[in-house]
Amino acid sequence: MVRVLIAIAIGYGIWRVSFGMIKMLATPPPEIDPDDIIETDQEYWCTVCGTGVTMTIANATAESKAPRHCREPMVPAPS
Ligand SMILES: [Zn+2]
Repeated sequence: MVRVLIAIAIGYGIWRVSFGMIKMLATPPPEIDPDDIIETDQEYWCTVCGTGVTMTIANATAESKAPRHCREPMVPAPS
């Protein structure tokens, strides 16, 4: 009987977690505020493969302004 209760508890836990994840994925990201968009001319390099990109528009409120490449944040190129 205890096993059945444990199984129900685990099942309920998995159901709650998966429901929460679906809800999180279904929620659209907040709208972009045009005032947060700034023009820039910053080059970034990927330290893993050497790829370089030039960013022309950035979001001033973004946590990290550097884009990611090869799963690593790119480093600003010295100007
Ligand atoms: Zn790369």
